[in-house]
Amino acid sequence: MRNKNLIAMLGGGQLGLMFTEKAQMMGEEVLVLDPDKDCPAGKIANKFINAEFTDSKALETVINYCEVCTTEFENIPYKTLELLEKNIEVFPNSNSLKITQNRILEKEFLKEQGIPTTEYYKINSKQELYTLEKIKNWPYILKTSTFGYDGKGQVIVNNFEELKNAYKKLNVTSFVLEKKVNLKKEISQVAACYKEKVIYLPISENIHVNNILHKSLIPADINDKINKSVQTITEKICVSLNYTGIICIEFFIDDKNNVLVNEIAPRTHNSGHYSIEGCNISQFEHQVRILKNLPPQDSHLKYNSVMLNLLGDLWENKSLDLNFGNNKDIFLHLYNKTIAKKGRKMGHFTVVDKFLNSANVKADKLYNSLKNEKL
Ligand code: ADP
Ligand code: MG
Repeated sequence: MRNKNLIAMLGGGQLGLMFTEKAQMMGEEVLVLDPDKDCPAGKIANKFINAEFTDSKALETVINYCEVCTTEFENIPYKTLELLEKNIEVFPNSNSLKITQNRILEKEFLKEQGIPTTEYYKINSKQELYTLEKIKNWPYILKTSTFGYDGKGQVIVNNFEELKNAYKKLNVTSFVLEKKVNLKKEISQVAACYKEKVIYLPISENIHVNNILHKSLIPADINDKINKSVQTITEKICVSLNYTGIICIEFFIDDKNNVLVNEIAPRTHNSGHYSIEGCNISQFEHQVRILKNLPPQDSHLKYNSVMLNLLGDLWENKSLDLNFGNNKDIFLHLYNKTIAKKGRKMGHFTVVDKFLNSANVKADKLYNSLKNEKL
């Protein structure tokens, strides 16, 4: 009989890569499926299938080699997961991906559950667009309902004229128009949903530049009340989605201290990368543990941590000297991507320290030195 012990990972990006690294360290074998033959995780997978996520032959191979399957990307067609679910265990479930890969379904889900989120209108046609002429409290943000990431597919609009232009430019018929929030802070909660129990990782405070995550600071500087409502909301989401696996909820704290859900990522998250060195158990280790039915274990912060993303912009017209010397508190992760495009996540580094402020100062200094390296 064939070895059916591989873990299937749908998606071979950096999240799949870091998962595969951890799984292999824990003695597991990973099968990666991705349409990009050059994808990061494919390069280290025990078995790599280079095919579309809908390829029936590829999915048959997944079923033949694996008892359990996970994902690193919310845009895996949910029908693929529905098909796999008939044959093997799939965490997270297809319904959670169906909801979170579509901003309209996601917002409606939150509304149904009575979970606070940004004020929004959903629009599915040009006629519906014209009902928005009545809006008074601009600005809003137009967001395509599918396939947006790192701020792509989003335009800020200050009046109805701008909305019409943005609608034309984005050339989609389905979108949400979201009130632009006066942000005090952005934070995120990664949670590891075991079958028995939800483990909450320390909350991260996130700084975005051009709508892309730039830096995460852990622990987030928030009071107990906010901490409590973040956990209550996260638990409610996990329970109502009947969720097993890693999830990340992105939150906005507005200028009146309201806690609003921004979006739900049904996977490990960039803002959780600090946990590799900052926590006793990282988000990737939890993912492996959940898939292998290992008992839940708490994740606590070992060190205050600052994580900084390295985007392709840093490589523009130059090679980077990423030799950080013998520093035992700086950890570099590169994702083995061949081409450094603007805005593309190429790697990250995490600085750990007894004091968050010193980690932050060190991280900024290092980042600025990379940014200012001569051409
Ligand atoms: P993505 O899928 O690209 O991460 P998000 O909806 O999370 O999409 O938007 C990316 C970033 O843009 C957010 O983290 C936040 O900084 C900013 N942003 C998005 N929506 C709003 C909003 N309604 N009000 C204020 N800022 C927003
Ligand atoms: Mg986001």
